[in-house]
Amino acid sequence: MSRTLVVRCFAGAFLLMGAWVAYTQNQGKQAPQLKLNKIKEDLYEIEGDGGNVAVYLTNEGVIMVDDKYEQDYDEIMKDVKSVTNLPVRYILSTHYHADHSGGNTRFAGQTEIVSTLNAHNNIVNHVQSNAPNDMVAARVTFTTQSDIFLGGKHVQAKYYGRGHTNGDAVIYFPDLKLVHTGDLMTMGPNGNPGSPLIDYPGGGSVVEWTKTLDEVAKLDFDTVIPGHGPVSKKADIASYRANVEKLRNRAQSLIRQGKSQDEVGKVMTAEFNWQPGSLNMQWSLPGMMTELKK
Ligand SMILES: [Zn+2]
Repeated sequence: MSRTLVVRCFAGAFLLMGAWVAYTQNQGKQAPQLKLNKIKEDLYEIEGDGGNVAVYLTNEGVIMVDDKYEQDYDEIMKDVKSVTNLPVRYILSTHYHADHSGGNTRFAGQTEIVSTLNAHNNIVNHVQSNAPNDMVAARVTFTTQSDIFLGGKHVQAKYYGRGHTNGDAVIYFPDLKLVHTGDLMTMGPNGNPGSPLIDYPGGGSVVEWTKTLDEVAKLDFDTVIPGHGPVSKKADIASYRANVEKLRNRAQSLIRQGKSQDEVGKVMTAEFNWQPGSLNMQWSLPGMMTELKK
């Protein structure tokens, strides 16, 4: 089940999973499903299974970004407890997809979860067709920015506009010069940009996506935790943006030549690794045909 959802929520996923399986096998059969990495002072990342989680330690408790799938709760808590005995006080959600917010179901009773209003609404309205029915939405929401102050530390959740969905929060750690982008940016295992999954049913937009990333790039940071894939640098956001623009220009020229959805889909498979039957084909392609016709 988890594998299926991961595959569905990440473009170029077949390659990714191949690399992941090879990676875990190389690490030996005892390798844990999730892996805790120290990124900066008091800032850890948990990789594996769903989206990347950030764990920020303060002397009054933990501020976390995203909580993967519900099934990952025990492993996440094991990792958190290995670096602090204080509770998880806040979770800042990057977006509503079940591989980033599925753990809300377990955390909601004990942790204040904060998301954009659109992400909240998308969970309440069960917009993600393949998500569990019992997903729990954040109790506290924001529309442009929310600031968390805990134990003398400061984290900002910012909404800059549409992209992957209509409610993608970028989480900024000003003292660490670090951002967590959610799926506004994803990286392949080899350090190449991931192909964008434009969730049109969830309000995504390939036209707005680059503008949203331009706003993110104005922040002062050097390190990026992408939604999926290895921790990256600021310059990688520019590479990711360039790839989104390239894809959009390619699709737009085909659509304006009058090519059919089928024909555009074949080019997306050949040039941007959108696999037949993937979520890119289900969620991104039909919406893109309409949005880029204008
Ligand atoms: Zn997503």
